[in-house]
Amino acid sequence: MSNYSRERFDVLVVGGGPAGIAAAVRAAEGGARVGIVDENMALGGQIWRGPWDGSHSSEASSWLVQLKKASVILLCGKRVFHHPEAGVLMAEGLDDVWELSYRHLVLATGARERFLPFPGWTLPNVMGAGGLQALVKSGLPIRGKRVVVAGTGPLLLAVASYLRKQGAEILLICEQASLRKLARFAMMMIGHPGKIRQGLQLRKDIAGIPLATSSWPVAAHGQQTLQSVTISRAGKSETVKCDYLACGYHLVPNTELPILLGCRTRNGYVQVNDFQQTTVEGILCAGEPTGIGGVDSALIEGQIAGLAATGHASDARPIFPERERCRRFARLLDETFCLRSELRSLPSADTLICRCEDVPYSRLREHTSWRAAKLHTRCGMGPCQGRICGPATQFLFKWNPDSVRPPVFPARVEHLAAQPQSIPEVTGELQ
Ligand SMILES: Cc1cc2nc3c(=O)[nH]c(=O)nc-3n(C[C@H](O)[C@H](O)[C@H](O)COP(=O)(O)OP(=O)(O)OC[C@H]3O[C@@H](n4cnc5c(N)ncnc54)[C@H](O)[C@@H]3O)c2cc1C
Repeated sequence: MSNYSRERFDVLVVGGGPAGIAAAVRAAEGGARVGIVDENMALGGQIWRGPWDGSHSSEASSWLVQLKKASVILLCGKRVFHHPEAGVLMAEGLDDVWELSYRHLVLATGARERFLPFPGWTLPNVMGAGGLQALVKSGLPIRGKRVVVAGTGPLLLAVASYLRKQGAEILLICEQASLRKLARFAMMMIGHPGKIRQGLQLRKDIAGIPLATSSWPVAAHGQQTLQSVTISRAGKSETVKCDYLACGYHLVPNTELPILLGCRTRNGYVQVNDFQQTTVEGILCAGEPTGIGGVDSALIEGQIAGLAATGHASDARPIFPERERCRRFARLLDETFCLRSELRSLPSADTLICRCEDVPYSRLREHTSWRAAKLHTRCGMGPCQGRICGPATQFLFKWNPDSVRPPVFPARVEHLAAQPQSIPEVTGELQ
């Protein structure tokens, strides 16, 4: 039997990445009772993934120090899965269930990689680019392994750089965007000096690794595990022997929880006003769910949300221009790394698109909508609940994944059955 616990916050933050940490720090500095809930065992989100053993950047460490000073209550290893009533979220850990009530909620749920199916993509050792990086950060030995990094977006270079530093042999980086698009991206960086510095550092880190533009994997081969990958490289086909394929097509925002809470989205992102307020009163959103802009954007938006949630909205105005710069950068990322139409022809008839429910491409193309495909094939109804095949089918068939239903993540039946217990109404002003 799981433990049932309750906590009440002035400001509850879902997500302990840069956006959530910045929001919590600014909210707690205003004297509010603030909590962060994150499904990972350590804070940091994707880029500052724990453990905090002194190896983080000075920027990350400085935010952690501020968080400690601000007495924020941390609920790590708990995943929010349900919203049973206004002002209440339910979260579960391994053997505990939490009823978390709040006056203001900041959603900082981040993003995940986009995967596009191709023959062989379900073979062991074909992984997401960020996914392989995360596994190596958690101890997967990569020294001496031959890795092809492929897909699209700046994450590919960050992953190649990281894996090389850990001793991997990076054979090739395949970027589906054209050289023309990348050249324009580089030119537009003039307005973002910080990004130029990061870019130059990355170039140095990956010096000597071939970077093929207009290139992508068309098939992965192997019996029990990956042995080689065939690449379409500027119109020609080439097969490369390797131990790992790290493949991701930029990022998709985690908007399921905001949508469950009734927040409106526009062009796939959560709609917010100048103060990161969503269309639902009392619910703010910051970081990747409002636009894929990277860590700087997440930190700025998080601070604005934290200030606004505690009645200090006007203190946020001085950082609006910085957020505007970040938004321009996010738009530039979207334009540069948008997917080319040739990638729609990657799957063959028997390529699995929904790998949770084993649904091949041939069964999906008979349908005209996400809903029809779900009803007839169970596509999107497995443990990932469409987080992988949803964005893939959106691209492949131009379908729109429809409504999100609770639970937003698979949860234990016992935890689903737990009802919120009556909590006395909170009265009075925020401290
Ligand atoms: C796999 C991956 C690897 C990346 N690696 C890099 C990199 O090396 N360098 C780089 O510059 N950028 C990287 N990025 C981009 C990076 O995510 C952003 O730059 C930045 O971290 C965004 O911050 P954020 O706070 O918005 O989101 P995130 O850092 O993604 O944080 C969101 C947090 O919310 C939590 N969460 C979400 N839903 C729930 C829920 N229901 N219940 C509880 N917790 C929840 C997640 O566990 C996560 O910790 C990576 C992105 C991904 C997806």
